[in-house]
Amino acid sequence: MPITRRIEEVAARRLGVKFVGSSDPTPDTDASNSFLFGDHPATRSLAEATDVEFLDTTLRDGEQAPGVSLTPAEKARIAKRLDDADVSVIEAGSACTGPGERETIRRVTSLDLDATVVSFCRGVRNDIDLALDCGVDGVDIVVPASDRHIETKVGTTHEQVVRDTVELVEYAADHGLWVEVLGEDGSRADLEFLVELMSAAMDAGADRVCVPDTVGHATPDRMLEIYAALNEVGPTSTHTHDDLGLAVTNALVGVAAGADLVHGTVNGIGERAGNVAIEEVAIALDHGYGVGTLRTEELYGLAELVANSTGVPIAPNKAVVGENAFTHESGIHTDGTLKDDSMYEPYPPERVGRERRLVLGKHAGRAGVEAALTEHDVGVGEDELPEIVSRVKELGDRGKRVTDADLLAIAEEVRGQERERRVELLDLTAASGSGTPTASVRLRVKGEERTAAGTGSGPVDAALTAVRGALGSAADAQLEEYHVDAITGGTDAVVTVEVTMSRGDRTVNVAASDADITTASVRAMVDALDRLLAYDEDTVLADD
Ligand SMILES: [Zn+2]
Repeated sequence: MPITRRIEEVAARRLGVKFVGSSDPTPDTDASNSFLFGDHPATRSLAEATDVEFLDTTLRDGEQAPGVSLTPAEKARIAKRLDDADVSVIEAGSACTGPGERETIRRVTSLDLDATVVSFCRGVRNDIDLALDCGVDGVDIVVPASDRHIETKVGTTHEQVVRDTVELVEYAADHGLWVEVLGEDGSRADLEFLVELMSAAMDAGADRVCVPDTVGHATPDRMLEIYAALNEVGPTSTHTHDDLGLAVTNALVGVAAGADLVHGTVNGIGERAGNVAIEEVAIALDHGYGVGTLRTEELYGLAELVANSTGVPIAPNKAVVGENAFTHESGIHTDGTLKDDSMYEPYPPERVGRERRLVLGKHAGRAGVEAALTEHDVGVGEDELPEIVSRVKELGDRGKRVTDADLLAIAEEVRGQERERRVELLDLTAASGSGTPTASVRLRVKGEERTAAGTGSGPVDAALTAVRGALGSAADAQLEEYHVDAITGGTDAVVTVEVTMSRGDRTVNVAASDADITTASVRAMVDALDRLLAYDEDTVLADD
């Protein structure tokens, strides 16, 4: 036998796979048999993984992200949206954390959701009692699995861990709870011990077992090894972290090897590099393999709710829910997208509850600029368009996002149009501090001065109330988006506020910069109102 063939054969035996020598017939290449890691005996095609469901742990593992703390009301709101999105299991918190957390879990259980609501429990009986007290449907019991955790952290033995686990599972199951056992740091545990521990948990009455990649250390190969070994033990769940940027891949490998419950969080928030993002796994299965799991059109609303509640912003380039995921700026991409929606997108934004955006900047081209102008009912001549495009690019070159207001102003300038402003901010005073925030504004409305005052939850809110007071019913516009950027650091920072406002079926975005955030905000909003009112010549700017 040639030496290379013998090496291959030995390697195959070590990896536990069938050796296919070079003289053997070519393997089956049918697409329906295309397994993620070759013809591994323990995997299935992801297209067959139609049984996959999600356990969301945004309210537990997600909340463990540095600086995140959710109020009971916020947790209840998120739980409701998770349920609307068809998440099957919601980990509402850890009952052992304290009375406040228990109150929150009770609030979630009292929502009477379709989802199974569970509490995270350490491997002690009291934690299960506290969870029962909150009226949960089930528990996630975490027990040490790696030698590091068993010997160094807890100071116990493998045998004792198995005995304790069996006792806890029996106790929880006897109380009618759905039980999942998590072997902490399982991806670094001895595989033989993992199988022994998880088999004992299943025999004691657990509904399923999970091997968390607690520190995000696992490679796809390690995941395959673990989940292939647990295949015969019982139903399995994945719990992956993104420290190596492999959280989605690892979850998919677990699913390919038979796991049917994926733990994750919205936006992937969590300790360190975070957990796997449920929206990413759901869309990978949906788009990549035609497997439906969550109600994907709910995903963007959920992402926004979690970002707003936790204060953890979504990175603009984040898959599925990032601001730029369906935004096209470059001339070539915009032109292509205008010809065919799917030219530069893997799937339509509506699938995840979003809309496509074409924005203008330094990469703008003729087609994009013309389309944007048409959207604002501005028709320009063939001789005017090149000049408008070049000014848009010039503004973009200076590092600025070109807003609707910028584009309209450029078009007016190029076309030599004088535009009469409907509404203009003349003066603004705002005060906040220990009392109720108040603001007063002086506006010029169609040539006539008006003043009004208002109160609000903060100075910006108070100023907006005052603007509304001065404009009456003409200010019936909605603030769709509000975004603040500090251009320079330090306490003397200049901020740019960008707002998107809509009125009827018209939408306009405007930016304004100032050293004072309230002034920048109000100026942007007044400018947006001015643009929106221009669409409607008949609007009576009454003092009502
Ligand atoms: Zn975790």
